[in-house]
Amino acid sequence: MPVYACYSRRSGGLSIGINLFPAEKVCTFDCPYCEVFPFKGSGAFSLAKMEDELKRILPENGAAVKDISFSGCGEPAVSPHFTEAFSSAALIRGELAPAAELVVITNGTGLLNRETFDFLHRVSLPPVKAKIWLKLDAGTEEWYKVINRSRVPFDVLMSKIGEFTAGSPAVIQTMHCSVNGAPPPDCELEAWEEAALRIAENSVRNKNPLYAFHIYGKSRPGAGDPCCGRLPAEELELRAASLAARLATAGLNIPVRVFP
Ligand code: SF4
Repeated sequence: MPVYACYSRRSGGLSIGINLFPAEKVCTFDCPYCEVFPFKGSGAFSLAKMEDELKRILPENGAAVKDISFSGCGEPAVSPHFTEAFSSAALIRGELAPAAELVVITNGTGLLNRETFDFLHRVSLPPVKAKIWLKLDAGTEEWYKVINRSRVPFDVLMSKIGEFTAGSPAVIQTMHCSVNGAPPPDCELEAWEEAALRIAENSVRNKNPLYAFHIYGKSRPGAGDPCCGRLPAEELELRAASLAARLATAGLNIPVRVFP
């Protein structure tokens, strides 16, 4: 199904998801906590089917729809259908659910492609004002190799995230969980906080303040279980409080939200 309805704790209600990968998972990361289990679906993504399903499901759910989100079984921004599907969904949103937000849940690797970078920048601004939820799970290359296991070099991705958030308002989202029985080490937490602060400062300096930080925990089964484990909510709260204090000291009014 290219379109599905689900409850999203981070959206705070009903989210209409769009899955650009109905045939198999396609992603540039290999996060050990990933909730997409290996599967083989039949058929490729169909724009016409997505449009039909959106036109059916949006009126059915009316004002309850909080957002239309691109996530699904992989990294949406690397799909060849992404820009076309997003543009079409934005038009349908305008007609049938103008109060619903458009969300792109992304690991950021699509930003390495100039056209995708520019597209995401454009739609993050008025009139579309899509919310780009950018993953920042690590502040060090060591933890990045553990938590995201990507071939994309850490420094290249960090540089692109910095460049993008300087010109486009966005949400920074971070998974906080244990891997192989161990939580992120203290040096990683400190490096992540420094990176988060730098991104926040840069976004404000360039007059595109981040919408928020989302620190979220492992709440559903993952394909790699039991490799990753849930951490106590207090640990997520502590991490958020520490960042919030640094942001406040720097005079930055950016919320840090926790989803244990
Ligand atoms: S970026 Fe998302 S889809 Fe890709 S491996 Fe990580 S959790 Fe799974």
